[in-house]
Amino acid sequence: MSWFVKKRQQKTAVEERTVRVPEGLWIKCDNCREIIYRKELANTHNVCPKCGYHFRIGVEERVAGLLDEGWTELFTDLKSNDPLHFVATKAYKDQLAKLEASGQDRDAVVIVEGTLEGHPIVAGVMNFDFLAASMGSVVGEKLKLGAERALAKKSAYLIVSCSGGARMQEGTLSLMQMAKVSAALAKLDKAGLPYFSLLTDPTTGGVSASYAMLGDLNIAEPKALIGFAGPRVIEQTIKQSLPEGFQRSEFLQTHGMVDKVVTRDQLKAFLAACLDWMMPAKA
Ligand SMILES: [Zn+2]
Repeated sequence: MSWFVKKRQQKTAVEERTVRVPEGLWIKCDNCREIIYRKELANTHNVCPKCGYHFRIGVEERVAGLLDEGWTELFTDLKSNDPLHFVATKAYKDQLAKLEASGQDRDAVVIVEGTLEGHPIVAGVMNFDFLAASMGSVVGEKLKLGAERALAKKSAYLIVSCSGGARMQEGTLSLMQMAKVSAALAKLDKAGLPYFSLLTDPTTGGVSASYAMLGDLNIAEPKALIGFAGPRVIEQTIKQSLPEGFQRSEFLQTHGMVDKVVTRDQLKAFLAACLDWMMPAKA
């Protein structure tokens, strides 16, 4: 009888969560496993119409969903290099070369400048397709330059986080970006300019431990995984099982780490309302 039993491919939790919207007419929701007509997702901002699961989206779609038309990309000439000559299962240098060859030449964050419902804004959108949007030196530098741009233009700053954490291939240099970006954000704070942090699935490691949690408003998409270390590591360390919904947006909102969980279709209107209130002179 075992011939008739179709073995379900076992995937780890991390693999399950890194499944992107696949090509094809129909797709299966990562959360509720329902089959969805792909075109339907285009009308719902890539949110599952059955359960509300927010599929991960790319940089272009994110920017188009938040900013008004006519935005420009900044700091496009910064490229990662390999200062530590790092080799693990693959050589970092080779990974970078492969990404560049496949057209991924924007590193793990894209900085854009434009308006949001008429309010001038600079935004940094993390790019999960580039080494899981890990925080390398270029990510830190671009986000710092973005903050300085917002400061010079007296505009608001938004970072859309989505990251596997620090870029281990850059070692301590990667960790230093946490302090560098945080220091740049402190300048915005001093100047009275708002910084919004939007946390999307997944925001983990050094990113969650620095700029992603420093927003004047920390906003999260529903059910996003947000945390420093993975749940299994924590359970093994503290020898206790974790509560239901641990490290999800809703749990973090209940416990005061996230200010507001906002669905994707409401994000732009929500940010615009905040800007109307925080920067009325710019409206
Ligand atoms: Zn679903």
